[in-house]
Amino acid sequence: MLEVERLRKTYTTDRGGVHAVEDVSFTVEDGRFYTLLGPSGCGKTTTLRCLAGLERPEGGVIRLDGRVLSGEGRFVPTYSRDIGMVFQSYAIWPHSMVFQSYAIWPHMSVFQNVAFPLEVSQDRPSKEEIARLVKESLALVGLEGLERRPAQQLSGGQQQRLALARALVRKPRLLLLDEPLSNLDAKLRQRMRIELRELQRRLGITTVYVTHDQAEALFLSHRVAVMQSGRIVQEGRPRELYASPASPFVADFVGDATFVPGEVVDGGVRALGGVVRCALSEALVPGAKALLVLRPERLLVHPGATGGPNEFAGTLRVAAFLGDHLDCVVEIGDTVMRARAHPAAELRRDQKVWVELPPDHCLAIPDDGWRPRALTRTFEQDTE
Ligand code: ATP
Repeated sequence: MLEVERLRKTYTTDRGGVHAVEDVSFTVEDGRFYTLLGPSGCGKTTTLRCLAGLERPEGGVIRLDGRVLSGEGRFVPTYSRDIGMVFQSYAIWPHSMVFQSYAIWPHMSVFQNVAFPLEVSQDRPSKEEIARLVKESLALVGLEGLERRPAQQLSGGQQQRLALARALVRKPRLLLLDEPLSNLDAKLRQRMRIELRELQRRLGITTVYVTHDQAEALFLSHRVAVMQSGRIVQEGRPRELYASPASPFVADFVGDATFVPGEVVDGGVRALGGVVRCALSEALVPGAKALLVLRPERLLVHPGATGGPNEFAGTLRVAAFLGDHLDCVVEIGDTVMRARAHPAAELRRDQKVWVELPPDHCLAIPDDGWRPRALTRTFEQDTE
């Protein structure tokens, strides 16, 4: 089990101290995939670097299986931490040194890349054992048979797999991954994230992952911590974060949402020219200011009124065909929201429509004033 307690890291710059990580605490149970998710500069990489021993935190404790890696007057160097890692621009080997490098070493063969961490380790295995471990590791990531190939002659996806094989070859207790898929094109990225998920589940290796990509975080993780300005602002299972975000920032970061401000009334929120029936987060009492979080995939656009609860009339501005649904933009008074319609629906731009907001999927949370960038009101895309 990995335990991080009240971690703090400040960088000193000419312009003063940058509080990169402030009071960060979390626990990763054995075999779990844990993701630090947040926008650029929120402190994810610094946290991971502290776990790796590449940064010396000035406060807090890091423990792996009860052993203190950092804090309480101790600091275990990277090479003694029993971790494997794939950072975007570093390759690190236990019992050796830290090299600034690409995720892989292009001038070495596939075999040499994977064998290297074993060859430089203090308890260097025999030649035969190295060959066996390299073979095993390459088989894990589906690169068997490519041992002699120069690493630079691998495809992007194969290079990522090679980086993983190298990180895993010493069978570390903890795997640290910092945006390992970010250099891949969209299709390959999707395929690789399935592979990574399967591999992690199969090996049951405790993993900490860093990304700013919410879909990747939700897809891969058992638990996700959302970071903002050096702090964890919410932590939970992907489903919990998505369905019950604690703040507008989290709601926006883990998925698409339209935010509608209003005032809490009994069983709902006064907004959109009526009362929207919805779930209310605990902190909300009648009279409080609230923000409705409306996920586009839960909102249904109908060409006519159906007479159901929570139905609001508006004007359709965009209806783009996306195969399994029409992705719509609807104006209701001052509110511009995204919603979905049946792919076969006959809809015309600027026609009157009704948007159904299923009460079970509408949530109101306290309005702390934070807002994402507004959806544009210039509708250039034609309705199909
Ligand atoms: P990204 O997704 O862009 O990598 P991040 O969430 O991983 O961002 P960090 O790299 O941890 O963020 O940076 C957190 C803060 O610390 C930022 O304000 C960053 O500018 C600052 N920072 C990071 N490394 C250093 C450094 N070596 N010296 C000074 N400031 C730093």
